Amino acid sequence: MLALGTYFVGLCIGVASFKLDGVAFGLTLLTGWVMTVNGARRMISTVAHQCVHAAFSGDKRFDMAFAEVFAVLTQTQTAADYRREHFELHHRHDVFSTIDDPSAKLLWKAGFRAGASTKRLWWNLLLTTVSVRFHGAFLRRRITSQMRGAMTWQRVGAALVMLMLLTGLVSQLSLHAVMLGAVFPVVVLYQNSVLLEFISEHAWFVEPSGLGRKKYIHATHSWGRFCGRSAPKRQGGSAVRYGLDWMRWVMEHLAYHLPVRLVILPGDLSQHDFHHRRPATPCWTTAAYAREEDVRNCDERWPSYTEFWGLHHAISHVFDGIASSKRERSGMD
Ligand SMILES: [Zn+2]
Ligand SMILES: [Zn+2]
Repeated sequence: MLALGTYFVGLCIGVASFKLDGVAFGLTLLTGWVMTVNGARRMISTVAHQCVHAAFSGDKRFDMAFAEVFAVLTQTQTAADYRREHFELHHRHDVFSTIDDPSAKLLWKAGFRAGASTKRLWWNLLLTTVSVRFHGAFLRRRITSQMRGAMTWQRVGAALVMLMLLTGLVSQLSLHAVMLGAVFPVVVLYQNSVLLEFISEHAWFVEPSGLGRKKYIHATHSWGRFCGRSAPKRQGGSAVRYGLDWMRWVMEHLAYHLPVRLVILPGDLSQHDFHHRRPATPCWTTAAYAREEDVRNCDERWPSYTEFWGLHHAISHVFDGIASSKRERSGMD
C-alpha cells in the first residue's frame, strides 16, 4: 500500500508542480518524478513480483488478481505475461541469463551483444537511455500486453480509476502538465529504471561455470547490488584533505547512491541474488536481513555470495561478461 501511495502522490505532485515557478517548480517536479518511479517500481518489481511467485498472500488467485491491478495502474505488462516470462522462464536454470530469457532478449534487442567491447557497451547504454526506438518498442510491448489481457472486473476497475485520475488532473491543470508530470515518468523514466536495473542484474550470455549442480548458475550469475561507499579514513593526511574527502563522500551519496537506491534499485532489488537462491522465501519483506542471515549460514555446496557497492561496478562486471562471451548463449544448446 505504501508503494501505491508513493505512486499516486508522486503523480499528483509531478502534475501540480506546474502551478509553481522557478526553483520550487524544479524541485517539486523532481520529487514527483522520483516518487512516481519509486512507487511504480516497488508496485511491480517487489509486490507484483512476489504475486507472480504466489508468495504475496499465499493464495495464488488473489495474488494474480492483485498483480493485475498494479499492472493496469502502471500500464506495464499483465501479471499473466509477467508470470510466464519471469516465473516460468527467467527462473528456469536452463533458460536463465540465456538469449531465451525474456530479460536478456530485451537487452539483446537494445544492442547489448555478446563479444562487443566494454567501451561500445557503455556507449550503447548511454544512447539507449535516450533512444526513441528503445522506448517506443518497450512502450509498445507494455500496451500490447495490456490490450491482450483478460477483461476481469479488477482490471476494468483499475483502468477506470486511472482514467478518472488523469481526467481530473487534466481538468485542473493542463494536458501539457499531465504529459510531463505524470506520463513522462511512467513511460521514459520507468523504462530507463528497468534498463539500468536489468543491465546490472545478471551475467547475461555468460556460460555456466560447470561446477556443481546446474541450478548453481543462479548463484554464479547473480550478486548483491548495494548503494554506497565506505566512509573516508584519516590516514595521516591533513585536516583539510580529510574534510574534502568527507565532502566528496557526502556529495557522492546525495547525487548518486541515494537516487540509484530510490529510482533504479528500490525495494528488495539489491538482494535479487538472494531471491534467485530462495525464490519461495516468505522473508522477502525483510530481504536485506534474510540475505545477511543466508550469507552467514550459507549452504556450503552453493557458490559463495558476491556483491558490488555502487551500481557502476555491477554494470562493469556485466559488461566484462558480455564482452568475453562468444555469442548469445541459448538455453536450447
Ligand atoms: Zn522472481
Ligand atoms: Zn533475476
